[in-house]
Amino acid sequence: MKKLTLLICWLPFLAFSQDTSRKIEFPDVDGYLTLVTDLHIHTVFSDGSVWPDIRVQEALFDGVDAIALTEHLEYQPHRADIPHPDRNRSYELALEYAKNKELIVIRGAEITRSMPPGHSNAIFIKDANKLLIDDPLEVFREAKRQGAFVFWNHPHWPAQQKDGIATLSDLHKQLIAENLLDGIEVVNEGTYSDEALQIAQSDKLAIMGTSDIHGLIDWMFDVPTGGHRPVTLVLARERTEASIREALLAGRTIAWFKNNLIGNEANLAPLLRASIRVTSAIYQDNTDVLQVTVQNVSDARFILHNKSEYTLHESTDVVELAPQSSVVLWVKTKKRLNKADLPFEVLNALTAPGTHPKISLSATVNGN
Ligand code: ZN
Repeated sequence: MKKLTLLICWLPFLAFSQDTSRKIEFPDVDGYLTLVTDLHIHTVFSDGSVWPDIRVQEALFDGVDAIALTEHLEYQPHRADIPHPDRNRSYELALEYAKNKELIVIRGAEITRSMPPGHSNAIFIKDANKLLIDDPLEVFREAKRQGAFVFWNHPHWPAQQKDGIATLSDLHKQLIAENLLDGIEVVNEGTYSDEALQIAQSDKLAIMGTSDIHGLIDWMFDVPTGGHRPVTLVLARERTEASIREALLAGRTIAWFKNNLIGNEANLAPLLRASIRVTSAIYQDNTDVLQVTVQNVSDARFILHNKSEYTLHESTDVVELAPQSSVVLWVKTKKRLNKADLPFEVLNALTAPGTHPKISLSATVNGN
């Protein structure tokens, strides 16, 4: 009985310490590391509900490589209870909590204005206090002087854009023309904008996806039941702050949102190629039915639409590829081939509004 009690006491701890399933994992691509970043996060130092140590802990649980705490500069609802004259304070605390941990903490702030320009995050800044400037253009110029990467937050937010349609104002056009705006949220918290994706692609802004978390990640994104926080996957040369900044400015980003991957073809195609591979192809006994084993080494549950000239024996034209696992496709090639090319449309990926990328799985037949 005593033994059992002891075991029960330890069970929650074991479950807690061994839970790696929630870590967000995507494979690296040719020449780049695929880093997981969440660059729009709040704490009690603006309108969030938690202390910065919780943000660090959540990020470590989720396998996030880099975070930025982006407290509102102009909106400070807890200030009567938590006075903090230094606007860098939440960053400094998070940096301390992340010491000797596998997490990069980037200094940031949220420029919080009515439309236009609405809300924007400036990250990689040197001093948030110096961004307390009234003139909306001057604050962006100061951020750039500090070496910031600046992105427009939730351009489709109905509270600031009644119809929910992301639209460039003259001020935004000026910011882009002056190189003061580098990215745009296509994904914010639980929302996505086709129009923001269009703007990102027309005006060459980095595609961003962020949690904009104020409460708890687990509750907001249903992590215990299989959900995930939205993040920006950054294709970086190294696992450093400087490398992440370089990659963001070069637009090597992919948003990961509700099991969808959203990015420019040049970034998304290599990630899909690295994520989905054929590991074997063999004819079933003396039939002309080819068994193709397809492996998914990413966290995405891929929804593939068959675009090949062949039909499948064990599924319709829609095939689901579960995260971090393999599936066997029974392909009716009609006659025995040495090699079969199997094009699929990836329905849970977007390379432009309404456009799903194609992948071609190349199956070289074993022992034929
Ligand atoms: Zn925010």
